[in-house]
Amino acid sequence: MNQTSRVKRIALYGSTGSIGTQALEVIAANPAMFSVEVLTCGNNEELLISQALQFNPNIVVVADEKKFLKVKEALANTDIKVFAGERALEEVASMDVYDMMLASIVGYAGLKPTLNAIDNGKAVALANKETLVVAGDLIMQKAVEKRVPIIPVDSEHSAIFQCLVGEVRNPIEKIILTASGGPFLGKKPNYLLNVKREHALQHPNWSMGAKITIDSATLMNKGLEMIEARWLFNLQADQIEVLVHPQSIIHSMVQFQDGSIKAQMGLPDMKLPIQYALSFPQRIPNDLPRCDFKKVKSLSFEEPDIKTFRNLGLAMEALEKGGNLPCIMNAANEIAVYAFLKNRIGFLDMTDVIERTMQKVKFINKRTLEEYYESDGEARSFAADLIRL
Ligand code: NAD
Ligand code: MG
Repeated sequence: MNQTSRVKRIALYGSTGSIGTQALEVIAANPAMFSVEVLTCGNNEELLISQALQFNPNIVVVADEKKFLKVKEALANTDIKVFAGERALEEVASMDVYDMMLASIVGYAGLKPTLNAIDNGKAVALANKETLVVAGDLIMQKAVEKRVPIIPVDSEHSAIFQCLVGEVRNPIEKIILTASGGPFLGKKPNYLLNVKREHALQHPNWSMGAKITIDSATLMNKGLEMIEARWLFNLQADQIEVLVHPQSIIHSMVQFQDGSIKAQMGLPDMKLPIQYALSFPQRIPNDLPRCDFKKVKSLSFEEPDIKTFRNLGLAMEALEKGGNLPCIMNAANEIAVYAFLKNRIGFLDMTDVIERTMQKVKFINKRTLEEYYESDGEARSFAADLIRL
């Protein structure tokens, strides 16, 4: 084995985000195992520059073209190549300069670079769940064709993936996706009506990017995760159960055909699933805090309240009907979440925008990638119009 095949070269897409920065901590703690070949961000050029100076990648890409000159100048004394723009993000994903992409861009923007990584035969550690929600069938099909492993980073899916190690020939009866319930667990619609951005951004157990934090507060995150699980583990809708578990110690469970249930547990810390995805099949030592069950004392469980948190019900409908409906739902959700974050609409309005968009945009059952792009665009403009009204 030569030197380059031992050090895994990582293309870190979305390096300035919550997942991206934690991944860099994991990489920095394991310099003999990983090197950073590519760093990309949306528009946080300051952080991108300081990451580039620290990790000395081969290439950096800033999606916002207005930031190109600033990054280029800041890195002028290095041999780091600097690119900008959406196309560059896609083109770099197609280059043969890395071994594994960590797909941690948020939202639909992560889809095309991830597709290119798979086309390019590169392993993918997948945090960007929206990619599978939009085009999970095509993504998984391509991954099989190209023999590319897709290793989940999302903590629930990492848990299921870990439970499945050594179980290749044993079919799954069902999976139990745990949900913290978010900051508004137990609340009713009359309370949610007046919830503001700052309040919704306070998650009890996890510190994450703004979009996924809002998705966790509305339970849309769990809906997206049901669809993500459907594709990752090749399941039917009725094999996926959601269970509220406020302590977030059990990260999810798998039930096999003999009724045996395996769970993966630990303190809620994304560095663990990130590290596992990067180092799989190896487990590498770390000094993250350990779970002490004497301190946790009790683990509790309850049913999700889909009457109050209607986004989860909408996602279940999208999961069952399939076709382009998850893609439409995802687009409307992105528009609604960003409008809520800008204080343009209320907390419960997000659900109305999503529901009306799902009803309006044409349903297509058998779809191509082009059709997904079109459905995404159509849903975005319809949802944006609803917000402008
Ligand atoms: P974040 O908002 O903190 O970071 C997003 C990253 O994507 C940033 O680097 C940003 O610059 C980049 N980006 C945003 N828009 C872009 C665009 N249009 N083009 C190119 N780059 C763009 O988000 P996050 O919390 O790190 O989440 C990233 C992904 O991981 C999401 O899909 C999320 O659902 C998933 N995820 C996150 C967590 C978590 O704990 N944060 C847990 C599970 C899954
Ligand atoms: Mg999750």
